[in-house]
Amino acid sequence: MSRGSVLIVGGGIGGLSTAIALRNVGYDVNVVEIQEDLHSSVFGVGIIQPMNALRALDAIGCAQPCLDVGFAAPAWGRMLDVDGGFICDMPGTRVPGSDLPPMNGVTRPQLHKILTGKALEVGATIEYGKTFTELSDGPGGVEVVYIDGTRNTVDFVVGADGVYSKVRPYVLGEMKPVYLGQSAFRVNIPRLPEIDRIILQKGPEGMAGFVPIGPDLAYFFYNTTWAEGRWLEQADMPAVLREMLAPFGGMTAEVRDHHIDDPAGLVFRPEEWLIAPAPWHRGRIVLIGDAVHAVTPHLGQGAAQAIEDGIVLADALGKHDDHEAAFTEYTGRRYDRCKLIVETCVNIARWEMDPAAMEGYDNTAETQHVLEEMVQPI
Ligand SMILES: Cc1cc2nc3c(=O)[nH]c(=O)nc-3n(C[C@H](O)[C@H](O)[C@H](O)COP(=O)(O)OP(=O)(O)OC[C@H]3O[C@@H](n4cnc5c(N)ncnc54)[C@H](O)[C@@H]3O)c2cc1C
Repeated sequence: MSRGSVLIVGGGIGGLSTAIALRNVGYDVNVVEIQEDLHSSVFGVGIIQPMNALRALDAIGCAQPCLDVGFAAPAWGRMLDVDGGFICDMPGTRVPGSDLPPMNGVTRPQLHKILTGKALEVGATIEYGKTFTELSDGPGGVEVVYIDGTRNTVDFVVGADGVYSKVRPYVLGEMKPVYLGQSAFRVNIPRLPEIDRIILQKGPEGMAGFVPIGPDLAYFFYNTTWAEGRWLEQADMPAVLREMLAPFGGMTAEVRDHHIDDPAGLVFRPEEWLIAPAPWHRGRIVLIGDAVHAVTPHLGQGAAQAIEDGIVLADALGKHDDHEAAFTEYTGRRYDRCKLIVETCVNIARWEMDPAAMEGYDNTAETQHVLEEMVQPI
């Protein structure tokens, strides 16, 4: 027997994970995704899956498929200097009692395919090219008006529609993410044997890095100080990036000299953060993922936290008949953890942008601390 009906707004990593987890505890689930097809997130770039992301994916039957297509790293990472010289290892950690690696890398399209396939397999429905125009929360459910003029009433609405969430104002009013002061370039490259974990290479103006995302594939990123709103034509990106990478030796110099020619292969993303105040629900409408905790990429934890949200939300809704109790438990179990991630990412970014102002800040120790916190039960 169904426990009730749920509309999930947003078919990204968090929305799809939540759909699977809610189906598994007996809810009827429909997902509306504004984009026209399943590759609705950043196309063609990889995603870091730390051990806690894999644990959460394991709970919805999606960890092994990610490990099958991705690259399981034996350790978290390594820090190199601007010339490519060794600075230190970043060991990371494992989930106690589990065989899951400290980190797996996959491409975003592969992850979307795995989550979408599982969501459909467990009986969720997904409607692409569709969104809502109005939500009216009442004691008997949430009345939803869709962009195509249709309407229905569901027991709950989950806002999983990302950092510029249109569901969020119904719960928290108007709220804007904060620009971090950094933006990132990304490009897929062939995986060199040395890229068997996250490799960071610290430059004078930003952090370069390498992430393995398949047996033969890796991505290169450069995360750098960038004025808010500074516009860059796609065609100009290779030359601008190559110039910014001029001080580097080692693997970053290799990438600069051989892999940054095609503007179409480069993805540029400004970085924004947000931690919404608790609670993350009002009435029958609840928020997950970037809609309430937009995370910058410094710890590779944004998707992990969105997936964990879905697992915890389904667990709480599966346990409580009273949705107010379920949603209160959900935010209670999630808030401090997500806040730690958001704040640590902001601090790492500040250190990268102005090390002198953050004298004594130990980026690798902070990363290790967060990873050890993340293996704690959710
Ligand atoms: C450059 C960059 C690199 C990153 N790298 C990593 C990484 O390596 N590892 C990691 O864990 N995290 C990473 N993150 C963070 C991660 O991408 C996000 O935290 C994660 O995708 C959040 O998932 P989400 O489902 O909440 O939101 P999203 O992935 O943004 O999904 C939201 C979905 O909702 C849809 N949508 C939006 N508005 C509407 C609407 N009105 N109606 C219907 N649908 C709508 C969107 O099309 C999208 O599909 C990175 C972020 C950036 C910016």
